[in-house]
Amino acid sequence: MLDYHVHVVAHGEYEYTREWVERYLEAARAQGIEELGLVEHDEFAHRIDRGLLAGLRQRPGLSPQVRAGLECEYLPGREEEIRRLGRELDCDFLIGSVHFLDGWPFDHPDHVHGWDLRDVDEVYAAYYRMVAAAATSRLFDVIGHLDLVKIWGHRPRRRSELEHVRPLLGVLRQAGTAVEINTAGLRKPVGEIYPAQVLLEALFEASVPVTLASDAHRPDDVGADLGAAVVAARRAGYRRVMGFVGRRARERVL
Ligand code: ZN
Ligand code: FE
Ligand code: FE
Repeated sequence: MLDYHVHVVAHGEYEYTREWVERYLEAARAQGIEELGLVEHDEFAHRIDRGLLAGLRQRPGLSPQVRAGLECEYLPGREEEIRRLGRELDCDFLIGSVHFLDGWPFDHPDHVHGWDLRDVDEVYAAYYRMVAAAATSRLFDVIGHLDLVKIWGHRPRRRSELEHVRPLLGVLRQAGTAVEINTAGLRKPVGEIYPAQVLLEALFEASVPVTLASDAHRPDDVGADLGAAVVAARRAGYRRVMGFVGRRARERVL
């Protein structure tokens, strides 16, 4: 089992201390997670205790093995900054995520009213255009929460979700970018894993690799519902998931 998406400082409310990180490691250990990807949102990259993280990554035999990642906000024009951050932290992997459309944080609880002002199909189209641009940039090893746009339960009417995602499949395969099976959606109003089963099946058919992610923002959520993520992956046809070391994907048997 692996969990490649865990936030230590969350949205800035916690400090990156040895004691606090140890709580994440303990939670992972208790659930048999062998690889744990510590991933801050890139806006909090400066809060990472790099010495502490380097020490954890180098400790032989440490269980779980610690990988270093960043969840980067993809916006056209940020490419150089993202590349620099990834290099500075010597990341094992980079997650590319889209949380903003034209400056609107569509997934943020304080900005849900923004949905009332917009056409849902147009939001979906704009969202997936950004995700396609993120994949095309080839900056990322993983695309974060692929169908995050469903978070509040808004569904497109004129085109299905699969139709919105279909143009992305070839882009992902060509870029060699993996998609995470992220269980945080189960803890959100939509109550579904990201990505939805129908999308996961299309990803499998398109030979897009996957990894596993709880997107925990506190120790209690480390590994949350990863059993369900494994079931979803297997149902879609996957028998392998990806881990990442030094920006290289490594297959793990599911
Ligand atoms: Zn977050
Ligand atoms: Fe995110
Ligand atoms: Fe996250």
